[in-house]
Amino acid sequence: MAQEYEVIIIGGGPAGLSAGIFVARQKVACLLISKDLGGQLNLIPKLENYPGTIMSSGPLLAKTLENQFLMFGGEMIYDTVERVDEIEGGLKVKTSRSEYITKAIVAAPGKVPNNLGVENEQTFVNKGVHYCTKCDAPFYQGRTTAVVGVGGYLLESGILLSRMASKIYLIYKGGALGGDKDMIAAIEKKENIELVPQSSIKALSGVNNLQSITLVDNSGKEKSILVDGLFIEMGSKINLDFIKHLVKINSKNEIETTVEGKTTHPAIFAAGDATSIPYKQIVAACSGGATAGLSAFNYVEKLKGKPGIRADWKKTIGDTVFHY
Ligand SMILES: Cc1cc2nc3c(=O)[nH]c(=O)nc-3n(C[C@H](O)[C@H](O)[C@H](O)COP(=O)(O)OP(=O)(O)OC[C@H]3O[C@@H](n4cnc5c(N)ncnc54)[C@H](O)[C@@H]3O)c2cc1C
Repeated sequence: MAQEYEVIIIGGGPAGLSAGIFVARQKVACLLISKDLGGQLNLIPKLENYPGTIMSSGPLLAKTLENQFLMFGGEMIYDTVERVDEIEGGLKVKTSRSEYITKAIVAAPGKVPNNLGVENEQTFVNKGVHYCTKCDAPFYQGRTTAVVGVGGYLLESGILLSRMASKIYLIYKGGALGGDKDMIAAIEKKENIELVPQSSIKALSGVNNLQSITLVDNSGKEKSILVDGLFIEMGSKINLDFIKHLVKINSKNEIETTVEGKTTHPAIFAAGDATSIPYKQIVAACSGGATAGLSAFNYVEKLKGKPGIRADWKKTIGDTVFHY
């Protein structure tokens, strides 16, 4: 028989773990199902911008969040959610190994950055190769970098790096930059950006850390350039196949959510990088997870005829403002 929980959380990244902390702390039967612990946190050896931590790392933050979740009585299993379906009185969660029944779900499946697909790429991850310019550009103050990418990601990455790095090679396959005209104009004015059109990256090399990249142009001519860092901005994959038949998905393949983490399905809440929030960062994922977790808690409390937790700290009735 399928095990039953009041709330099931899908995803063990910062959004899912934060949702878990806020749900489990309310003494609600809560299960977190994830393929791994930490999600994208595992790609962050040096974490500088999570408030309240100095010299931390992604895996350390993941472990701390997991301990906090388990401390409040949450349960966690490593498995892949394959499908969520409506059943009478709730939802059925089918994983690759089992089935569960729940009243509410918090979906936090995050995303995975696309690789360039060049030999040696994995060897240099976080040793010169990076997939998040807004996260890692500050490590390259005064250093030489290259960016390869698609559309707006490439332009945004070049502009961000131009404020920190001494030199940026902007590598793209086409003959002209595509995308937002103002961003292209801004890039063309930057003295530290060198455009490298009609080119792609053929190889990465270095001893311990990335030191040079080999470029090949459309005519097949190769050249090597020395760089300290390479930013790969090829977009990300979000896989919502398990839930997309139940909630509204926007044109960017993200789950549409309200500020309270609600989706278009009354029993499904969502948080983190897989949702329509701006600025996909850890602090935003944790905040969204906490909010979606509390909204899920309120939903199951209301099913029991209980008031739940107030979402707002003040309420206006007529001319009187009540503070809570
Ligand atoms: C290279 C890199 C560096 C970064 N550096 C920083 C930084 O310095 N500072 C910062 O604030 N942000 C940084 N970020 C962004 C940050 O990591 C993300 O915003 C954050 O991890 C999003 O959290 P999330 O929980 O929404 O998703 P994720 O971290 O992607 O976690 C999603 C989780 O869901 C699981 N999952 C997915 N689908 C299923 C399924 N079907 N069944 C079960 N489990 C599933 C995954 O296995 C994973 O555990 C960086 C991102 C990258 C890629």
